[in-house]
Amino acid sequence: MYNVKSRDSNEFIDDIEVLLSIAEAKEIVKQKTEIDRILTKARECKGLSHKEVAVLLEIDDDETLNKMYQIAREIKEKIYGKRIVLFAPLYLSNYCVNNCQYCGYKCSNKIGRHKLTQEELREEVRALEAMGHKRLLLEAGEDDKNCPIDYILECIQTIYNEQFDNGAIRRVNVDIAATTVENYRKLKDAKIGTYILFQETYHKPTYLGLHSGPKRNYEWHTEAMDRAMQGGIDDVGIGSLYGLYDYHYETVAMMMHAEHLEAAYGVGPHTISFPRLLPAEGIDYDRFPLVKDRDFKKVVAAMRLAVPYTGMIVSTREGIDFRKELLEIGMSQMSAGSCVGVGGYAEREIVNETGVEEKPQFYLADHRKPAEVIKWLVRDGYIPSYCTACYRQGRTGDRFMPLAKSGQIGNYCLPNALLTFEEYLQDYADDEFQDIGRKLIDDEILNVPDEKQKVTALDYLNRIRSGERDLRF
Ligand code: SF4
Ligand code: SF4
Repeated sequence: MYNVKSRDSNEFIDDIEVLLSIAEAKEIVKQKTEIDRILTKARECKGLSHKEVAVLLEIDDDETLNKMYQIAREIKEKIYGKRIVLFAPLYLSNYCVNNCQYCGYKCSNKIGRHKLTQEELREEVRALEAMGHKRLLLEAGEDDKNCPIDYILECIQTIYNEQFDNGAIRRVNVDIAATTVENYRKLKDAKIGTYILFQETYHKPTYLGLHSGPKRNYEWHTEAMDRAMQGGIDDVGIGSLYGLYDYHYETVAMMMHAEHLEAAYGVGPHTISFPRLLPAEGIDYDRFPLVKDRDFKKVVAAMRLAVPYTGMIVSTREGIDFRKELLEIGMSQMSAGSCVGVGGYAEREIVNETGVEEKPQFYLADHRKPAEVIKWLVRDGYIPSYCTACYRQGRTGDRFMPLAKSGQIGNYCLPNALLTFEEYLQDYADDEFQDIGRKLIDDEILNVPDEKQKVTALDYLNRIRSGERDLRF
């Protein structure tokens, strides 16, 4: 039976509650007054329930959809302004004991396998720092023998220690397989930022059908965030892999997951990612119920309305033009210049020790270098941000949310975006782009809402222009 506070995933993602919400929504969507009520509530940044999200997903006429997109734009602008936080994934190991049917790293694929040595990792980090990155998302397949938790912890240490010229990785987020409370505690002690784990699909029969290996334990996987919270990690990131099952089901269930974390631990997810299934080595791509662009855009807008204070992440799985549309209606973070193979940034030889060619986890849609992405963002009026300040200032979990909900976070996000963008210009940009970027910074810094913060921001900016680094709010 549905119980939002239960620690049992079969109760907080109760199948009947999901199906009932979708069935009711098909009737409710016919009532214009009810749609108007939901949109009005969303416009006030009050967030929405999973039942209300289910209704928005049933909208199919362009006029109402456009109204929803307009409100999503307004919320995005009001809470996040123009800043877009950038990061890159870093693959440590492609060893995997699971056989997830949608993934190029599945164990039945006879691809080359490799785990980065610490020296190779340092080369990767130097390559990422040379692109300007400050925030990474560590990725690794599940394999306790070849890639144990101690290896992950050692890698985190290596990354934080590797500082090359003015480069530094200041925040390491981690996306590794569901693990124990004890291991989550170790990750917390290693000073990770967010722990991210995609649910893949919330629909249990589909989940069981697509997985074999330890990951096939639906409850262990779905309750991972509960254990992460118990291990002291209060910034967690959820997401389902769109294209494995019906998008209505996935979105309503994902909202129920967010509601559960809020109800049980007092903090909802810090981020929600929206990966969409892509072709990969050895994958029968066309057999999956892929989500069309129009439907996916609706999902993103509905979620922006539902969780106004949660960071939303778009990856290089999406093509350039579509990323632009998604940024407008909701996404606040994006990956840039991503490589989804082991050792790809330093252009490691992708034939492993046994002479077998390695393959990426999946085939990307956006192949641009970060410098191109940054210029593209600025041309479109956005402020690229390498900010990593909140968790380093202790603003995580229930210390972060009140700032976000009161709108005060704008006094942090905007100056931090501008200061980290100035660092980028100084350290990595060509002369022409420096001029363009500085003009943007000089204009935007005057928009910091709080007068005192503005004065400090101007002081920090001058100090960064004189060579100091890592000044933040
Ligand atoms: Fe392994 Fe993760 Fe790929 Fe599954 S999705 S095969 S666990 S790397
Ligand atoms: Fe994110 Fe905090 Fe930086 Fe804003 S100030 S971009 S919320 S880390």
